[in-house]
Amino acid sequence: MARYELMSRTYAPTLKEDPAEAELASHRLLLRAGMIRKVAAGLYSYLPLAWRSILKIESIIRDEMAGIGAQEMLVPIMTPAELWHDSGRWEKYGPELMRLSDRHERPFALGPTHEETFTDLVKNELRSYKQLPVTLYQIQDKFRDEMRPRFGLMRGREFIMKDAYSFDATAEGMQKSYEDQKGAYARICERCGLRALPVAADSGQIGGDTSVEFMALAEAGEAGLVWCDCGFAADIEAARARIGFEEYAVGATETIETPCEGTIASLAAFLGIAEQACRKSFAIIAEDGTPTLCLLPGDHELNEVKAEHAFGHYDLMDDEALEAYGLAKGYMGPIGADPRVRIVADSSLRDARSWLVGANRVGYHIRGARAGRDFTVDAWLDLASAQAGDGCPRCGEPLHAARGIEVSQVFQLGTKYSEAMGAYFADENGRDTPFHMGCYGIGVSRTLAAVVEQHNDGQGIVWPVSVAPYEVEIVPLNVGDDLVWPAALQLAGELSQAGLELIVDDRDERAGVKFADADLYGFPYQVILGKRSVANGDAEVKCRASGERFAVPFPELAAFLLERIVPSRA
Ligand code: ATP
Ligand code: MG
Repeated sequence: MARYELMSRTYAPTLKEDPAEAELASHRLLLRAGMIRKVAAGLYSYLPLAWRSILKIESIIRDEMAGIGAQEMLVPIMTPAELWHDSGRWEKYGPELMRLSDRHERPFALGPTHEETFTDLVKNELRSYKQLPVTLYQIQDKFRDEMRPRFGLMRGREFIMKDAYSFDATAEGMQKSYEDQKGAYARICERCGLRALPVAADSGQIGGDTSVEFMALAEAGEAGLVWCDCGFAADIEAARARIGFEEYAVGATETIETPCEGTIASLAAFLGIAEQACRKSFAIIAEDGTPTLCLLPGDHELNEVKAEHAFGHYDLMDDEALEAYGLAKGYMGPIGADPRVRIVADSSLRDARSWLVGANRVGYHIRGARAGRDFTVDAWLDLASAQAGDGCPRCGEPLHAARGIEVSQVFQLGTKYSEAMGAYFADENGRDTPFHMGCYGIGVSRTLAAVVEQHNDGQGIVWPVSVAPYEVEIVPLNVGDDLVWPAALQLAGELSQAGLELIVDDRDERAGVKFADADLYGFPYQVILGKRSVANGDAEVKCRASGERFAVPFPELAAFLLERIVPSRA
């Protein structure tokens, strides 16, 4: 059946001005093109055009999941607190978990992810190894009370996620399920038109020990990553690197006057040495209360995720604590600090023979200090954030840095949840064995934002065909004209009959307004009908991505568009 949409009937109110609150192109354009509207911080409505794109992304996901035998289902968003107690995450998840009580004051959480519910679902029902493997998934709203919801759909408090959970009898089986999902995730990115890179990742709140994230490359991405020509790629949160260091003044230990601003940059400039030859110090109080001084190569930053793994929820020392532990702000060092202070150094510094460290006296540093002789390092830990120029952990060549949007992540969980929640099956010998699990999440709404972030120009969105709300927009320039309008309707009928998804801009607006809106909405092809072209029996076809224009005779129009559009459909 021929079916097309009319612009006058589509709720897609455009904005003339850039909304002030939107920093990212995707956020700005989704608002301007009338695709999303904010309800409250981190809560957005998807208007009809955005919703069409969301449904297309979901259908790509469903197709790929069917291809690897994952079964779609749905669990409640609300989860009883008991399940979270069973897994130990009621406490661990922290304030991001949205908690609520029912009228009987029974506690619940709105699911930020659903390992608990799915593990509980199969517990006592998937009983035998013969029933395995099983992978279940759903597409559903998730809730996370993010500290800083921002960038529109990128970091919402309610957002759409596809989450899958695999249950296997063995670790090898889990690996296979994991590889299947990972392969599907790469294809999903590609089919959505995303340039994405799989990177080794930290497993965060979810846990487990092997994890990969798919990063849509974008300057505006919140995530940092490092990669190497050899194929290594990792999220900054997880990346280990071979970090080099320089030695400064090997020899006798000596206190030197360093009247500078107490920063690494000013110290290096004052001494005329590389920042790398200095040591950066961070004084923290670990979760267990231990005062700790972390020493890093001067040109590197403390990696907060690695630090959380090492120290739990830590706090930076305030001025009072610094003073109490004998640490001089801007001139901190391991020598002369209170003996209660635990000294921890980045593992990259293990072979450094001569250290330049703060003297714990304002305006002074100590050079030629030696670990093991002049001070004790209680632990060598991987604490520094990898950065461009560091050595690749695999091949040693310099790493490149890039920014990305994490659109999805796959995890090997092992038996973390099955053991905690008592989810066992009977193996070949009838023994109770915990499931080997994997979990796999795609941010559906974030994927939409990432697509727009990668596909836009000064005029608006430039949709890839596969997830465009419509494939073709017919733009009759004069809807009152008794040649143009009937031609537009005739073509709309024919093109939709040919299977093209189209919308007709039937509004009685000036040509300039229609052109600007067509570019802003960004549908892949515009079929422009003016008086002269219609009189010639031609349409002017504009390709939104390349800007190319073609005069195409009406009888050839459907074939012309299909030839270009069909191969790009997902
Ligand atoms: P981030 O590090 O960006 O906070 P995450 O690693 O905590 O994300 P996961 O637990 O891996 O997120 O969730 C799976 C997917 O859900 C993510 O890859 C991302 O695409 C999406 N997602 C997570 N948090 C949000 C959010 N606040 N808004 C929109 N999408 C999100
Ligand atoms: Mg993640």
